[in-house]
Amino acid sequence: MMKSRSISNMNDTSFADQAVTLKRELVRPRSMLVGGRWVAAQSGETFPTYNPSTGEQLSTLQSGNQQDINIAVAAARSAFEGHWRRVKALERQKLLIRLAELVDRHFDELNLLDSLDMGAPVGQTSPIYKRRSVGRVLYAVSSALQIKGETIQNALSGEFFSYTVKEPIGVVGAIIPWNGPLGMAIWKVAPALAAGCTIVLKPAEEASLSTLRLGELIGEAGFPDGVVNIITGYGHTAGAALSAHPDVDKVAFTGSTEVGQAIIRASAGNLKRLTLELGGKSPNIVFPDANMEQAIPAAAMAGFANSGQACIAGSRLYVHRSIFEEFAQAVAAFGQGLKIGDSLDPDTRIGPLVSERQLERVTGYMRVGTEEGARAISGGARITEGDLAKGYFVPPTVFTGVSDSMRIAREEIFGPVISAMPFDTEEEVVQRANATAYGLSAGVWTKDISRALRMSRLIRAGSVWLNCYAAIDAAVPFGGYKMSGHGREGGMMHLDNYLETKAVWMKEE
Ligand code: NAP
Ligand code: MG
Repeated sequence: MMKSRSISNMNDTSFADQAVTLKRELVRPRSMLVGGRWVAAQSGETFPTYNPSTGEQLSTLQSGNQQDINIAVAAARSAFEGHWRRVKALERQKLLIRLAELVDRHFDELNLLDSLDMGAPVGQTSPIYKRRSVGRVLYAVSSALQIKGETIQNALSGEFFSYTVKEPIGVVGAIIPWNGPLGMAIWKVAPALAAGCTIVLKPAEEASLSTLRLGELIGEAGFPDGVVNIITGYGHTAGAALSAHPDVDKVAFTGSTEVGQAIIRASAGNLKRLTLELGGKSPNIVFPDANMEQAIPAAAMAGFANSGQACIAGSRLYVHRSIFEEFAQAVAAFGQGLKIGDSLDPDTRIGPLVSERQLERVTGYMRVGTEEGARAISGGARITEGDLAKGYFVPPTVFTGVSDSMRIAREEIFGPVISAMPFDTEEEVVQRANATAYGLSAGVWTKDISRALRMSRLIRAGSVWLNCYAAIDAAVPFGGYKMSGHGREGGMMHLDNYLETKAVWMKEE
């Protein structure tokens, strides 16, 4: 395993100074991790990754394709069959504890890499991401000893004894998006390793740097060669090859519903197991008795955090008609008060969108909203003046005059855009909240406990937040109903995703 880089005194210098050091490091082309070695793509092809705050190129990545995926899957298979599947849980736990310590120690650097690469504001994201990232590895440590089979009374007990054991599924292909790169990588890698699987991980082309650094830390923690492999590259080449590979037992995917559907089709060849964490168009519902001091900022950040590039974004804001105008204005004003800026400025609360392509998508939806008759009461167009004009910045935007049938109310925008709509009755808002192809999450704001519980039962979504939004933890299942996905990550279900169940029978007499 190649020796890892380390940035000295990360905690003693400012974000900006640390970033300068990192940028200097990033000039050399990155390589990919295969079978414990850092290698170039077989084709010799590379591609650039950019800093979306400035548009400048950050680094050059290897463009892995089918050949590289074949080699990485062979390395993962050989590590799995050769030794890793027989490694004791205690050993896996020790390695994961070392990894948790390394992620904790190098967190500032990992967070900076994501900030530079995809534009998440460095000061805004850091404490939440640190807790989640380290917490997920530690949760995997504890769950490695929670893997349980059962003895079963069968119809012929006494003559036949039966029990189940759980076994690692084998070689896992993990494909992740760019909107929370480090967290997404850990969310796949930690439970797969706790379960005893080996992995080939493909990060998103827009933001692979923190995943590559994580690969170095995985080596430093002492995981054997080939247990974790990382192939950078495009979705239509590396991603497609991984999801169709006949020797991959399971694909864990987070990304868009459209690509999730392509992955289902690609899995048909060997019927590989799938978990899919896909898109959303989450309703956030505010009743007139809500605590407004909490509901207003929370509704704004539900839509604007990470510049709205969140699968759980509360992008459909349903507000009771009696308070609608006032509430929508307050959310818009809150958004206007958020400092927009370079992701490395610790005071920035709204960073850029990840790429020019994403900028076009989001501003395209802003135009569609206006054309369909909605009105932007804040934001509504790209920032084209001053320093921010270099990057891909759009301001927090609130649309009113929206109806449920408009595209901005139905389709996932993945930008800081809230469609605010009034409602009259509880029954009506439940029906409208559920009238979507998605079912990832929902928020409900009310002081009436019975209503909160009723709403939580009636809403068809994988997570319902009552008087809060975006609460996520390693110990709690997370995932979607309907077209938001298959399976759950988090909780003990996260390990089940990486295990097969074997029934064992024994003749007793
Ligand atoms: P995306 O286009 O679906 O890409 C996700 C990953 O899939 C990337 O690594 C991408 O590679 C790869 N990919 C693209 N085409 C592929 C193919 N044909 N076969 C295999 N892999 C392929 O999504 P994104 O734009 O990166 O992320 C935004 C989406 O992710 C949103 O829809 C959001 O809701 C969803 N998301 C969901 C969750 C959740 O937990 N439910 C969390 C975060 C994000 P390249 O990028 O290199 O092309
Ligand atoms: Mg980038």
